[in-house]
Amino acid sequence: MKTRSLLRSKGVAGLLVLAGGLGVAWVVGESGRIVLAQPGQASLAAGPAVTQGPQSATGRNVARVVAEQISARAVSELKARSPVITDRRTVALSRAETGWRLVKESQYQRAMLAFAEATELFPDDAAFLVGLGLCQHRLFRDDLAVTTLERAIRLDSSVGQAHKLLGDVDYRRGEVQTAIRHYETARRQDPNDVTLQARLVTAQRELQADAGFDRLYSSHFAVRFESSMDRRRVHEVASRLEIVYNKVGRTFSYFPVEPFLVILHPDRKFQDATLSPGWAGGLFDGKIHLPMRGITRDRQAAEKILSHEYTHALVDRLSGGHAPAWLSEGLALRLEGRADAWGREVLARHAAEVGPLNSLHGDFLELPPRRATVAYAQSYQATKALIRRYGMDRVRKLLQALSITPDFSSAFEAVCHDRYRDFDAAWFASQAQERF
Ligand SMILES: [Zn+2]
Repeated sequence: MKTRSLLRSKGVAGLLVLAGGLGVAWVVGESGRIVLAQPGQASLAAGPAVTQGPQSATGRNVARVVAEQISARAVSELKARSPVITDRRTVALSRAETGWRLVKESQYQRAMLAFAEATELFPDDAAFLVGLGLCQHRLFRDDLAVTTLERAIRLDSSVGQAHKLLGDVDYRRGEVQTAIRHYETARRQDPNDVTLQARLVTAQRELQADAGFDRLYSSHFAVRFESSMDRRRVHEVASRLEIVYNKVGRTFSYFPVEPFLVILHPDRKFQDATLSPGWAGGLFDGKIHLPMRGITRDRQAAEKILSHEYTHALVDRLSGGHAPAWLSEGLALRLEGRADAWGREVLARHAAEVGPLNSLHGDFLELPPRRATVAYAQSYQATKALIRRYGMDRVRKLLQALSITPDFSSAFEAVCHDRYRDFDAAWFASQAQERF
């Protein structure tokens, strides 16, 4: 279906549905998203050591330090192909090879470590830096990615992929014109890369659609809106998004630095632009889409929509895009402040349709409307059960672990010290008696 393929093509999608007082939401997960902990965020810094390690082992400081460590003498030794340097080169190539293998498996955190090691051994190898920059970009450290990739280009202006990745960084930031310039350079370097053509077409379409739009930047959001819209109302939305950023962030002890892109749609265009159904109150597909009137008319309803969609955005970054749909939806419903009894009441009416959680990892869009409502109710109930059993802090660590180990069962066992299938079975069995 058209809607589904659009949402899939965008990677991650979430819909907030406000129909008959029942909020329903959609998520389609895809790989490659996380933001690392920021220094000073104590609870995150206390997470798995690997989260902080790569961050401190990459970027401009390390590149500089490493470059200083490997002296000019070492380079001349390399030219002389001394055994020591040859060994070092072999090790570096091997680490880079590991990095590319991990990239294929979407294990960007581990891949970043491998490329950082390769770069330490050979700081002037542009291809290693491209690998490192790619991981930084996929891990939402675009500030580091830009530095790394620009350094790669300075070392070798024809190095493959660097301009394409810089284009991706700019595109994600909403800097479409600069993105197009990078894509065009990349296409001149590699005319056979068909993915570049697709990127160019998308970016050029967006640039055309951008005519008549303005942007407003708050601390953590870039809000795109039609120039004809009332700026005071846009300011108001941005202010409320910042409040939600802090509120939801406190729940997850997670405050990403890389800004989120928000698109404010005139109400008449929201459904067409997002291909969402009439009852959708908002949508997350990597960007947060909001209908203008829907979020400025009723303050309470708006608060729910903003909290719901921002939770999707945060879960997406924290988990690297690997959170199962039921968990992302359950958290979004919880953070929007859904009535506690809602899920229980829906499941009581549709007890025969309740299935195991492992059937709710992917696309809810496949489901017919009634089954979908049951799926959201299950998501809500199961997420509350998960939080009751393990605590919110453990749930956050579970999301964080998914960015390193995308397999949910493995991450669950590592963080919760229980088997996911046991949790799932216990939860499923408990539904009839509401014992959970
Ligand atoms: Zn949702």
